[in-house]
Amino acid sequence: MKCQNCSQENKLNAKACKKCGRDLAVPPSWFPDWRWHARTLGIIYACLVVFYFVTTFALRQLPKPYHIRDIPEDLTPWLKR
Ligand SMILES: [Zn+2]
Repeated sequence: MKCQNCSQENKLNAKACKKCGRDLAVPPSWFPDWRWHARTLGIIYACLVVFYFVTTFALRQLPKPYHIRDIPEDLTPWLKR
């Protein structure tokens, strides 16, 4: 079997790697590779882009004049600025 750490070929029943000493009885833990990172970051980025457009679309559905970002002060006298 191959060592997960240094790729050294070891005996099938070896308890530890003869080169680096890594415990071979421990099941190999999960190491994400660059493909996993690229895919995950791509999914996160796509979600952010979708969220941005959905939010922009939702804010445009607000009644006038609340569809604009900065509401004129005379329209909201209860907001003391
Ligand atoms: Zn090793």
